[in-house]
Amino acid sequence: MNIHEHQAKAVLSEFGVAVPRGYPAFSVDEAVKAAEQLGGPVFVVKSQIHAGGRGKGRFEGLGPDAKGGVRVVKSVDDVRTNAQEMLGRVLVTHQTGPKGKQVNRLYIEEGAAIAKEFYLSLLVDRETSWVSVVASTEGGMDIETVAHDTPEKIVTFGIDPATGVWPFHGRTLSKALGLSGDLAKQAARLLGQLYTAFVAKDMAMLEVNPLIVTADDQLRVLDAKVSFDSNALYRHPEVVALRDESEEDPKEIEASKFDLSYIALDGEIGCMVNGAGLAMATMDIIKLYGAEPANFLDVGGGADEAKVTAAFKIIMADPNVKGILVNIFGGIARCDILANGVVNAVKQVGLTVPLVVRLEGTNAELGKKIINESGLNVIAANDLSDGAEKIVKAVRGLA
Ligand code: ADP
Ligand code: MG
Repeated sequence: MNIHEHQAKAVLSEFGVAVPRGYPAFSVDEAVKAAEQLGGPVFVVKSQIHAGGRGKGRFEGLGPDAKGGVRVVKSVDDVRTNAQEMLGRVLVTHQTGPKGKQVNRLYIEEGAAIAKEFYLSLLVDRETSWVSVVASTEGGMDIETVAHDTPEKIVTFGIDPATGVWPFHGRTLSKALGLSGDLAKQAARLLGQLYTAFVAKDMAMLEVNPLIVTADDQLRVLDAKVSFDSNALYRHPEVVALRDESEEDPKEIEASKFDLSYIALDGEIGCMVNGAGLAMATMDIIKLYGAEPANFLDVGGGADEAKVTAAFKIIMADPNVKGILVNIFGGIARCDILANGVVNAVKQVGLTVPLVVRLEGTNAELGKKIINESGLNVIAANDLSDGAEKIVKAVRGLA
């Protein structure tokens, strides 16, 4: 689960991390009020969307010469005009994809005098099960570009969860960033605070880009991007409360209510599959036959009828879906239960596109009987490849 920059900074400051003063604003009036409270002389008007690269992003409808999604201004009036221009507009960055994201809230922050910009992030290293720290002197840039062009400028080290952060970790970080004296002390303190926050809140990733040294030698977190491990959210109701559903796909929100593993994609073939591996294989084979999957969906092993009905409705709600392929290999999941779920869902929402069903494994015969006797216009398939071929043909109007 992702949160906005201003929320990430609020979370980090609970752990003592020094961040610039700022206030979120949902309207032009709130932006002006925030600027008046900050007092200036320099303000930064920052678009809050769940994507990075905002500074270099482009607003739809403003032309290539307009400023990006992060703007440094010098008066309350300029905060007002920029807020007017940014709120409600779609911002396209290299992380949003071409569709962009609508800016519904801003963060009005005090301007910092930047002497140096660094990159610093914490993430879980799945190989070692430790928290990894990634640091670079090349701040404010896309870290993927730095990794590609100048990998020697990136320093990575792990923190053993059994011991946590030690002074030598702080020294490693300071060395990587070329800091000494009081700034080295600040870096060590910051690392301890970030690590404590990361572990306490079950973060999956915490990225500070840029981390800056100010003109008066203070280390400051100028941008913060945080995502949380969704499997640990049950332990953090205060984090769940930060969720901004307007940033998420409504179909994925609905799926999460039913504990379904669903990811919306851009294609035209809706897929309902049990098992993540089989779901991946189903997507691959749809591509092999020349079409694109509209979603990834794993209904899971213990799927009951209600869950399957919900899943089918979510697939049907996608206007891009031109055909549906149900591919079930019954093991713990029983084909008859899946079949009943599909029949129920179709009865409730109607079937307007071709449907191919492939059932195999536990209670497959019973499942096929339920589908055949339902009177639904279903195309039966014998195996995975047959199913993919049939649904692609049906969608192309050849079946
Ligand atoms: P993004 O990474 O999405 O582009 P950032 O928050 O990193 O957004 O802002 C982009 C750039 O804007 C930063 O690299 C920094 O140079 C500048 N910037 C951001 N916040 C401030 C601030 N409070 N004061 C001065 N400059 C800022
Ligand atoms: Mg940034």
